[in-house]
Amino acid sequence: MQDKADLVEQVRTGDLRLHELEAHADAETAAAARRAYVAAETGATLDSIGAHSFPAAETESNVENLVGGAQLPMGVAGPVTVDGGAASGEYFLPLATTEGALVASVNRGLGAIEAAGGATARVTDSGMTRAPVFRVEGVAEAEQVTEWVEDNRDRLRATAESTTSHGELLAVDSYVVGDNLFLRFVYDTKDAMGMNMATIATREAATLLEEETPAELVALSGNLCSDKKPAAINAVEGRGRTVTADVLLGRDLVEGRLGTTPAAMAEGNTRKNLVGSAKAASLGFNAHAANTVAAMFLATGQDAAQVVEGANAITTMDVREEGLYASVSLASLELGTVGGGTGLPTQAEALDVLGLGGGGDPPGSNADALAEVVAVGALAGELSLIAAFCSRHLATAHEQLGR
Ligand code: NAP
Repeated sequence: MQDKADLVEQVRTGDLRLHELEAHADAETAAAARRAYVAAETGATLDSIGAHSFPAAETESNVENLVGGAQLPMGVAGPVTVDGGAASGEYFLPLATTEGALVASVNRGLGAIEAAGGATARVTDSGMTRAPVFRVEGVAEAEQVTEWVEDNRDRLRATAESTTSHGELLAVDSYVVGDNLFLRFVYDTKDAMGMNMATIATREAATLLEEETPAELVALSGNLCSDKKPAAINAVEGRGRTVTADVLLGRDLVEGRLGTTPAAMAEGNTRKNLVGSAKAASLGFNAHAANTVAAMFLATGQDAAQVVEGANAITTMDVREEGLYASVSLASLELGTVGGGTGLPTQAEALDVLGLGGGGDPPGSNADALAEVVAVGALAGELSLIAAFCSRHLATAHEQLGR
């Protein structure tokens, strides 16, 4: 094992490459040497980046070329009562953000929801997808391979599931484009977001398919999955958790807590979230669901790039005799309570704030509950922002809280 100064010198002379340091020192020393080298090369000070609370050795499956940690302010909103399919009771929502007024906005919406007795939420569909693309001779061969898939579902399922003790193959949907055959594998990944799990399982299934049919695998991800890219298939078919939260707010609450009326809220939602989004050909018919999704993803160790899919949400608001009915439906919320970044210290603590860390009983129930709580948070953000537009105090709130 070498000390920091030796490592820095060897990187400087080209005897060692930056990613090789862990082979010559413990993880903390390797990260410190990398920091020192980058500081010397760039003139930047990495003192704050180096002041992290997680053990360097525990980040091996999360990052390469570790230099430290990026710290974000985290706030808390709530508590809010959630009547969910999996979530039940009161929740504080941890939100990591640098956008002033976001936590206050979600908190205001949650306050109105709580005063109405809480929100209802349900996961209505669940399935993580991986869609490899195969080369076939033409459409006749595509049909032949698709028939093989139909006839061999049990073998495909057994092969895919041989790689995981939790994942279950739910469906294989085929799409043909000329001599391209896409097979979209859908898995129940329980409490894991499941992208690694689904990819590993699909690789096994694709190997079987190649052995038994003329199809040749070109790419294990054929982009029809569709991961981390805006795609209508996720908005329509769902990916990860498909989840809806709704609430009925009495007229007094809308007036007293949100400073506007049910009719103004419903009109604002229709003109902005529905008509405006349609005119923009947006996939997200909502005001800022991605704000809550991103802040909760960062706080709880989710894959931040999947906020792309988390923005596939439709917000509805209607006047009812009792007041305002409001809902938000997130089509493709990809999250987990095990795996990925969920086990890192601050992220695990944030999941503990929610009481949803680790695997659920039954498996999948913790991730379902987390999806329902995120949906309620997104609903709160929608209520607060639409109310701010309707009562015309959005700019004032940002002026006071965000600058
Ligand atoms: P993972 O950490 O790779 O796997 C989750 C693990 O948790 C599995 O080994 C599973 O074991 C285990 N597990 C224990 N209790 C569980 C429970 N109650 N429910 C489900 N699983 C349980 O995580 P992942 O969710 O599959 O993948 C997430 C990671 O993939 C993130 O780091 C993300 O950034 C990354 N990612 C990968 C790709 C890709 O293409 N590979 C794409 C995007 C993102 P068993 O499987 O043995 O049951």
